[in-house]
Amino acid sequence: MATKKKKRTKLVCEVCKRSTYFTNKTKAVEEKLELLKFCKYCKKRTKHKEAKR
Ligand SMILES: [Zn+2]
Repeated sequence: MATKKKKRTKLVCEVCKRSTYFTNKTKAVEEKLELLKFCKYCKKRTKHKEAKR
């Protein structure tokens, strides 16, 4: 049996450039590369982008 590919995507805060979240890549995420997430370093909601692997 072939192993399922699970892409783990790192989300990086655009403000502080730190990776704050990991997410399992889905088709929905692939289309939407920018997510508004709460950054614990900036202590506010910032844009998060998918980090390049
Ligand atoms: Zn941040």
